[in-house]
Amino acid sequence: MLRTILLGPPGAGKGTQAAKIVEKYHIPHISTGDIFRENIKNGTELGKKAKEYMDKGELVPDDLVIEIATTRLLADDCKNGFLLDGFPRTVYQAEKLDSFLEKHGAKIDKVLDISVEKEELMTRLTGRRVCKACGASYHVVNIPPKKEGICDVCGGQLIQRDDDNAETVANRIEVYEAQTMPLIEYYEKAGNLVHIDGATGLENVFADIVKALGE
Ligand code: AMP
Repeated sequence: MLRTILLGPPGAGKGTQAAKIVEKYHIPHISTGDIFRENIKNGTELGKKAKEYMDKGELVPDDLVIEIATTRLLADDCKNGFLLDGFPRTVYQAEKLDSFLEKHGAKIDKVLDISVEKEELMTRLTGRRVCKACGASYHVVNIPPKKEGICDVCGGQLIQRDDDNAETVANRIEVYEAQTMPLIEYYEKAGNLVHIDGATGLENVFADIVKALGE
């Protein structure tokens, strides 16, 4: 049983580490950002609503996100735990998540706070490319694909996320500092926060995460 949250600014490597964590611990990866992007791709009403905020680098309204996340958490595959990535992002969302879990006799075991310097975040996000088909993440300089523009994993096309341009990235980082950083104190008080240095390289970061979560 492992119920855990990945906290950290955009560009800290949450998505990359999430993929490794769910493979090792056999728990579902729940990314509210991925759920919204999937809805945008499918042209749903939810996708249309979310896109307005996402394109500006702003947060989608709390009540909408909470509804999406808690509905997902009720699915069968979450019975033995889950990894939340990008949710909660405000103290209000965290409180609602806690009361939802309490109602179901559950609680968060560990919160991993991955930190990376601001300048490095800008470089990482503006150079990020993602596979349109499978979502695998690359970087034009740091993690280039074997063949330019093509996903190593599935051969899909690599694209830049709409919200990875310099202006939107700057706003996403500001929004993180103002609205999400207070969560660090929230979970510190709850006693289940672990700090992870996100600048030590992909494998070292993962090793620190495994140390925190236990083998
Ligand atoms: P991410 O893929 O986690 O970087 O999320 C991309 C965008 O989706 C964010 O910039 C927000 O606009 C929106 N989003 C994702 N998760 C949340 C959340 N928990 N609360 C509010 N907005 C969110």
